[in-house]
Amino acid sequence: MQSTMAKQDYYDLLGVSKSASDKELKSAYRKLAMKYHPDRNPDDAEAETKFKEANEAYEILSDPDKRAAYDRFGHAAFENGGMGGGRGGAGAGAGGFEGFADIFEEMFGAFGGAGGGRGGRAPNRGATLEYPLEVSLEEAFKGVKKTISFPVKQTCETCDGSGSKGNSEPETCPTCGGRGRVRQSQGFFAMERGCPTCQGQGSIISDPCGECHGQGRTTREKKLSVTIPAGVQDGTTIQYPGGGEAGTRGGKPGDLHVVLNVRRHSVFERNGNDLHVETPISFVTAALGGKITVPTIDGRTLQATIEPGTQHGKTLRLRGQGMSVYNSSLRGDMIIHTAIEIPVQLTEKQKEILQEFETVSGEDGHYPRVQGFLKRIKNLF
Ligand SMILES: [Zn+2]
Ligand SMILES: [Zn+2]
Repeated sequence: MQSTMAKQDYYDLLGVSKSASDKELKSAYRKLAMKYHPDRNPDDAEAETKFKEANEAYEILSDPDKRAAYDRFGHAAFENGGMGGGRGGAGAGAGGFEGFADIFEEMFGAFGGAGGGRGGRAPNRGATLEYPLEVSLEEAFKGVKKTISFPVKQTCETCDGSGSKGNSEPETCPTCGGRGRVRQSQGFFAMERGCPTCQGQGSIISDPCGECHGQGRTTREKKLSVTIPAGVQDGTTIQYPGGGEAGTRGGKPGDLHVVLNVRRHSVFERNGNDLHVETPISFVTAALGGKITVPTIDGRTLQATIEPGTQHGKTLRLRGQGMSVYNSSLRGDMIIHTAIEIPVQLTEKQKEILQEFETVSGEDGHYPRVQGFLKRIKNLF
């Protein structure tokens, strides 16, 4: 009886009011159970005690009859032949305690799915694989076929995926009875875990295949020819349904996603279907005009005309000389960005000529930007 006196009130323990609804009780319990669960607090005796107390409180308060008795008689209701017959009889089984299983289901989900055997013997789909494949800009321009090879879990050829040597049917796991989960009792509360015998599969193979050790799959190199169409963009994904990992227990295979990574080019910068190219030209060509030679993505060269008086950064658009457009016979444009280069390391002769050029240039309209700037400065003062 003295232990009864020392016991904390169940409502206080869960941190709810006496009028708490079932939902409030469940939510309060769930929070505590998550917080103090032994999986999260290994070797922590205090957490374990709190976990047990929360379990006990919730077990009583979530049962309408027990809650009514508790409200009338307090802890005494469950002492010495009270309703539940004390701790031992409080029903650790699956019986009158519904909320428990749900909550643990939720919790194990939150813990990252211990065992993961929810589905028991249901077929599992194989994983979808992502294969990053690098292609050059030229390859993206004209399209290309590439052979890739990668290790992947495939259906075991020795046992044809059954996992057993003699192709015998898998047997129901004796530990969990095929559920894939086991209920463990610790004192009066119970918890569910993934079955350790069958790893949550629900079945075991008594004569495992020597090749795949009962897994039904082995990891083997897979070769695949990938056709990359012209005009693909960086990040384009080519999908191969069923090209991924083999499934288990008759499950469908996963898919394969080949994700294209178009390499940066040393000359061209791609923007959508257009190609930009920075072309340095001498200041003399810029001033007098002339022809420049530019390369194209399809391996030719083109002549482009520089107008006399071309300024730095001026762009020239060459229509239809850009990237091929995916699923079309069109092409984007090539855009030339002129970069005017000022000569360096001048000889005495060159300096002389430029000096002379400067002297004869005077002030009349050869440098409109310089003159405009000087004018604006003058107006400032
Ligand atoms: Zn096998
Ligand atoms: Zn099992």
